[in-house]
Amino acid sequence: MTDNLPQFERLPFNEKTENEDREIWQPNWNCFCCQDTGQIQAHLVRLIIADYDHNRDRIPVCQGCNKFDRHNLMEYGVLDTRFDLFLCKKLDRISRDNWKQITQKQFEKYRNQLNVETSKISQSHSLTNTNRTDNDNREVGQRKAEIEATSTEQWKLMRDDYLAGKKDE
Ligand SMILES: [Zn+2]
Repeated sequence: MTDNLPQFERLPFNEKTENEDREIWQPNWNCFCCQDTGQIQAHLVRLIIADYDHNRDRIPVCQGCNKFDRHNLMEYGVLDTRFDLFLCKKLDRISRDNWKQITQKQFEKYRNQLNVETSKISQSHSLTNTNRTDNDNREVGQRKAEIEATSTEQWKLMRDDYLAGKKDE
């Protein structure tokens, strides 16, 4: 029956917020092996070199992308080029899955919180009113916006922690 209905894309009324949200949930790098630094992330290197010491060992260069430009190469001089394209793509996949899990978990937490709060409001109002008024709807909308804001803030902190932790390795 619904086959004949047209399909529209969402038309968010607040485009700016929408774009910000997308940026927060999406990482700001393309290559998950090196996070676009050209230098393979230490925690990924340790999957291959268990006792890797980033202060003393040659820099494992990402060959899954071309971010490690010649400029950097000249500067550092001491490089580990054993991580070939195939291996870097594998590490990229591992890191990508890991990121997906983290964001998924955070997103579910946010959805659950939203559902609980929304049903709380609905319940408290259905005790006194049989029909939802505009005011009720406004309250639900307001609460939603609040939860969204807190959740986004939490997520930002979590992401920063995540990135900071990876950098210290
Ligand atoms: Zn890379």
